[in-house]
Amino acid sequence: MVECIFCKIADREIPAEIVYEDEETVAFVDANPQAPTHILIIPRRHLPNPGAIQDADRAVIGRLFQIAAQIARDRAIQESGYRLVVNVGRGAGQTVEHLHVHLLGGREMTWPPG
Ligand code: 5GP
Ligand code: ZN
Repeated sequence: MVECIFCKIADREIPAEIVYEDEETVAFVDANPQAPTHILIIPRRHLPNPGAIQDADRAVIGRLFQIAAQIARDRAIQESGYRLVVNVGRGAGQTVEHLHVHLLGGREMTWPPG
């Protein structure tokens, strides 16, 4: 998926502040942060949205949440709380068609989201 900006970040073809990576996942700082901590956690495999998840992807999807929780612990935002968000589709605010989990924290969160 050469046209995908997140695939390019995962391949280090375009720069990003990568905070974690392994064989299957990458986590990097959002370029337009909406909170003091705003990190995106992605599978390396190009999945456009949750509807594309296959049975073989189940472990890596679980990893995304484990990594988010680990980063939240490392950044001491676990106690104050943090939010994990997956926007799906344009109407919900998805602008990049590569599945990603937003980790947002370090400030008060309101509900419902906008
Ligand atoms: P979405 O709107 O699809 O849920 O989230 C996409 C996120 O990707 C946005 O928060 C946006 O700021 C971030 N983003 C878009 N392009 C880039 C980029 O080139 N580098 C980084 N680090 N973040 C990006
Ligand atoms: Zn991609």
